[in-house]
Amino acid sequence: MSTSYDQNNIFTKIIAGDLPSHKIYEDDVCISILDIMPESRGHVLVIPKKGARNLIDVDPNDLAELMKRVQKIAVAVKISMNADGLLLRQANEEVAGQTVYHLHFHLIPCYAGKRRSRHGSVEVSNEDLAEIADHIKKLL
Ligand code: 5GP
Repeated sequence: MSTSYDQNNIFTKIIAGDLPSHKIYEDDVCISILDIMPESRGHVLVIPKKGARNLIDVDPNDLAELMKRVQKIAVAVKISMNADGLLLRQANEEVAGQTVYHLHFHLIPCYAGKRRSRHGSVEVSNEDLAEIADHIKKLL
């Protein structure tokens, strides 16, 4: 099993604009998009533009820059979605639940009394995702 970075992955294509996404934020370091199979309303991904497979191989200075963005986007998601809490998750390798091998952080809003959907189990319409993205973007 290879554990090296393979740039032929879906997030590289989204970063390049070759595949569509519902983007809420972009700068020179990262993009942030809505997850197409959200575990809750407003589930976003923060994805570095520079390729790394996961937390194990990312350059620590790149990671430090990325985490500043993760926090900024987390605040915007929590406030705009009126969430009671927020789950930050990041998987390393298949055994840990990683399915896309380009580093990314999940920001998953948590709502009191509401169960989250299972990872990768619920697909949401483009219209819904577009509406949520517009809403979160206003705070970024
Ligand atoms: P992982 O399983 O690696 O922690 O997270 C990968 C995430 O990417 C999953 O939550 C999955 O729903 C999401 N995902 C997979 N393909 C696409 C896609 O084409 N567009 C978007 N926006 N999310 C995707």
